[in-house]
Amino acid sequence: MKVVRSVPQLREIVGEWKSRGERVGLVPTMGFLHAGHLSLIDLVRSAGCERTVVSIFVNPSQFAPGEDFERYPRDEAADVNALESRGVDLLFAPDVDQIYPRGFATRIEVGGPAGPLEGQRRPGHFSGVATVVLKLLNMVQPDMAAFGRKDAQQCAVIDRLVRDLDVPVQLLFGETIRESDGLAMSSRNSYLDPAERQRAAVLSEALRRGADLSRTSSPSAVEAAMAQEVAKQPGVELDYLRVVDPLTFETPLEDSGSWLLAGAVRVGRTRLIDNMLVERRGVHDSKRT
Ligand code: AMP
Repeated sequence: MKVVRSVPQLREIVGEWKSRGERVGLVPTMGFLHAGHLSLIDLVRSAGCERTVVSIFVNPSQFAPGEDFERYPRDEAADVNALESRGVDLLFAPDVDQIYPRGFATRIEVGGPAGPLEGQRRPGHFSGVATVVLKLLNMVQPDMAAFGRKDAQQCAVIDRLVRDLDVPVQLLFGETIRESDGLAMSSRNSYLDPAERQRAAVLSEALRRGADLSRTSSPSAVEAAMAQEVAKQPGVELDYLRVVDPLTFETPLEDSGSWLLAGAVRVGRTRLIDNMLVERRGVHDSKRT
């Protein structure tokens, strides 16, 4: 696997592949890789990419002051091993000044799905994400790029960005990979001490409970039941648990075909997010019969 830190080097290698007609798939990450990240590599490959590029860049512009940018976990040597054993062709691991050179003065603002939930709680976050993702897409110019549904709102924001700015890339969205107790894998899980790690499972349990109720209950009843589930677990602070439309992230119509249950909690100092998609097609048909 080639490890590349500059854009000219990156362009030269990717350009060579493309001149031979090989399709290139990009998986952007912030590193400290786990099975969720690795599943996205498999996804671009199974979608037909002969070449895979993974980027590792802890993007300062998507962290607000006071968030965990400085302490975000980093272990490039372990990441290189994981990527090599997965057969990745190129790791792009730029320094900050490669991405944001002196004088950098542009930001992408996405409206729509970037507004509610995470957008409200983390002002500037999606603007930072959209800016760095567009830069990575322009740097690598991949045929496909893969993102995880674990960050469902991020997927919606990137989908909007790519459509609105006519970015010539095919987006792929991978399912959330979970630990055996249901906790969604995340680099931030490494912050949790053993007691916190046990408590953290309540977020996915609450979402599962909400999903079970979604065929028979209103959005507000589902939200109340999910909040109740979290309240039963001491040491876990609810940020939000909402039923939203999976494209707009606004309150869904009661009879809409799919709902996204999305939540965020704090366990100690660690903020965790997760979501579940509920397909509701047939709910109203069956009521009618
Ligand atoms: P991150 O390094 O956390 O920025 O994540 C990089 C990519 O991996 C993003 O597209 C995430 O949505 C995706 N990802 C993170 N955790 C998971 C997971 N548990 N399952 C699937 N994809 C994930």
